[in-house]
Amino acid sequence: MRFAPAAADVVGFLAMEISFPQHGKPPERADLLPLLRAAGADLDALYARADAVRRAHCGEAVPIRAIVEFSNYCANGCLYCGLRASNAAPHRYRMAPAEILAAARQIAAAGIAGTVVLQAGETPGYSDEDLASVVRRIKTETPALAITLSVGNRPRDVYARWRDAGMDRYLLRFETSAPDLFARLHPDCTLAARLQCLRDLKSLGVQTGSGFMIGLPGETIEILADNILLCREFDFDMIGIGPYVPNPDTPLGDQPNAYAADPDMFFRALAVLRLANPDAHIPATTAFDAVFPNGRDLALQRGANVFMPNATPSPLRKDYQLYPGKPCIDEDATDCARCVQARLHALGRPVAQGPAHSLKRPPTTR
Ligand code: SF4
Repeated sequence: MRFAPAAADVVGFLAMEISFPQHGKPPERADLLPLLRAAGADLDALYARADAVRRAHCGEAVPIRAIVEFSNYCANGCLYCGLRASNAAPHRYRMAPAEILAAARQIAAAGIAGTVVLQAGETPGYSDEDLASVVRRIKTETPALAITLSVGNRPRDVYARWRDAGMDRYLLRFETSAPDLFARLHPDCTLAARLQCLRDLKSLGVQTGSGFMIGLPGETIEILADNILLCREFDFDMIGIGPYVPNPDTPLGDQPNAYAADPDMFFRALAVLRLANPDAHIPATTAFDAVFPNGRDLALQRGANVFMPNATPSPLRKDYQLYPGKPCIDEDATDCARCVQARLHALGRPVAQGPAHSLKRPPTTR
């Protein structure tokens, strides 16, 4: 049986089919392209459909994940990234374990975020065991907080060690599904290696998040559709996407976003991502605020269901700029906590209680 279209237009019909594939064939690139080209009333219908699918699968409450950018050291040279090793612009820092623990305690005490996300460059200046120890101590001292790590490609046994220490989740974006484009932008890594890391994490029972940048130079709308389909194929627990923002301190600095002339594409991509991945946690990433006033608020109304405020100690924030115009670098953690509550209140969306684990599968019991 096939569902009747939600509206008498092709966007409404395709949106229904993609959201409920059990009533039709799994989506293919050709199914997504009309949605990624939607305009006018069709675009409004697409956003409304994405918001309805988000509401049906994730509810109204918004999980809050507080990000602590604990080191901006990285040995890699990704061509778009402000943290690349050869960029002399940022002052390099590494928070001590006691500072990371203090940040986690502060997040737990504020009682707003249910997760601490520990993010750094791929070589943050800690040994694998150092990081395991930090995770263990956070889990012991603040057991109510879920812990997400995001420090790049690692061997499977390292992920397993961190999981055993208490890591609940891991974030590792694949950035683009096109192998050639990936190779051009990432001199230190291949797409195959990145995808193997993601398979390793999933096989270990770690809640796995990934995602991509929208509009990398060289991206086509077909690649964008494939990025969305790859997220669906991997059945990620969390999917973070955001507009590519050129950073003048990088080799890609003078190359504009592939959709610079059509910024609606950023939200089209988000809405289609939601339709194709109905029960994934999808954050309203900070890059939306960098390219649109109140971009994260719009994202929460067009498919996103998670908010990730910055909880990095304020003096360090200015040195963790993957791209220019990153919001919230002058605020402190208390400002960000107040801001997120006000933004969600204005949208009529409550803050989710607890860690808000994956909607797809129960967390691994350790
Ligand atoms: S994207 Fe990640 S791995 Fe690449 S240079 Fe930046 S911090 Fe390092």
